[in-house]
Amino acid sequence: MSESTASIIKEYENCKGGFTPMKIPIAKAKNATLWDMDGKKYIDFLSFFAVTNMGHAHPKIVDAACEAIRSCPMVNTALINPSYARLASKIHEYLGYERIVCMCTGADCTDAATKIARKWGYQKKKITPGNAFVLTTTDCYHGITISTHSLASTRKTWFEPYVPSVGPVSPSGVTVRYGNIDDLREALEEDSETIAAFMVEPIQGSAGIVTPPANYLREAYLLCKKYNVLFIADEVQTGLGRTGELLQSWASGIKPDLVCLGKALAGGVAPLSAVCGNPDVMDLIEEGDIGSTMAASPPATSAAVAALEVLVEENISKMSARKGTLLRELMLEEDLEQIIDMSGSGMLSAAVLNPKFLSDSFSGRKLQELCAENGLIVNSAAGGTRVRICPPPTIEDELLIQGVKIFAKCVRELAA
Ligand code: PMP
Repeated sequence: MSESTASIIKEYENCKGGFTPMKIPIAKAKNATLWDMDGKKYIDFLSFFAVTNMGHAHPKIVDAACEAIRSCPMVNTALINPSYARLASKIHEYLGYERIVCMCTGADCTDAATKIARKWGYQKKKITPGNAFVLTTTDCYHGITISTHSLASTRKTWFEPYVPSVGPVSPSGVTVRYGNIDDLREALEEDSETIAAFMVEPIQGSAGIVTPPANYLREAYLLCKKYNVLFIADEVQTGLGRTGELLQSWASGIKPDLVCLGKALAGGVAPLSAVCGNPDVMDLIEEGDIGSTMAASPPATSAAVAALEVLVEENISKMSARKGTLLRELMLEEDLEQIIDMSGSGMLSAAVLNPKFLSDSFSGRKLQELCAENGLIVNSAAGGTRVRICPPPTIEDELLIQGVKIFAKCVRELAA
């Protein structure tokens, strides 16, 4: 390791966060390849948690962001940012939603969706003031601010009290397990008068790429319609081509009332998220309800317009579906008894480790470390019981093949 790399790793000790990175300072990225500060090359099987759906540093997206930085890097809602307007039109054209409200992070937008849902609950559904509830599912992840952390089932005592009237336990005390339609039915039956919205990930990402039963999403959507409950799809991780569809909700043939987008929205070059919806719900948003000084800045929205064009013109969804099939075939060919399944869809997937092999020396975290030593970036998930495999859908076939070979070699080596 060079001196400058060692010094960066030392300086990084001052950077605090809830996640422990691998000690690899990254200097350069192109499509599905990363280079560290010493020039060592890595195949990217992570996409920084499903951000780089169009590959790292796609020239069209980078150019759009750079051009915006050069010509006018800041316009916020005090005036009109033309590329924000264009982004709204693109979302309408590609996803079928007439309205968007942009924020910066995934958590910002699920928080905004919660506010919109509560307002809708009071104004349209006529829920008694103070009672509107936003229901989620166990093991969900919608962000880690105090309000979005409150939506989750894994809470920590030292942040209490959490935001009330949100989360996976209904007002009457039904715990809504992800993928369990009976739980949802019971919760909605008992509390349909106070539940304003149901927020759900079409595939649970941070829980370790967990796919619900085949009809779950559709049945959940129909139940929401039956009980006049807004259906909010959190597609921050699943959306924008990652799973083989522009929106994973489409795979279930449904059109959610609100869709949350983030991560890949600005093609991995700027922070940007959005809640998308139609006027019946979105026009409830009034002055002072939702916003951020830095949301929808010209570099972010210009990049997003370019990213959406790339998404459609290069048919990233189809690419993701095809590479996802190839990835699963290649893994099957390796015939690893340590891997019992490849979960997920398209390029949102995880290798499910065989519990028989799990030990202090064989775990997701150990595999992640060994893969990195061998030039492959993967990520341990679900407490080390799974390994997230989410390359950019644009990954070259050759790199995909090479990456699977490295992964299989590391699995065998670690299990030996
Ligand atoms: N929703 C989902 C489904 C996510 O996967 C994430 C991030 N993993 C978020 C929301 C939060 O996004 P951010 O980290 O940008 O706040």
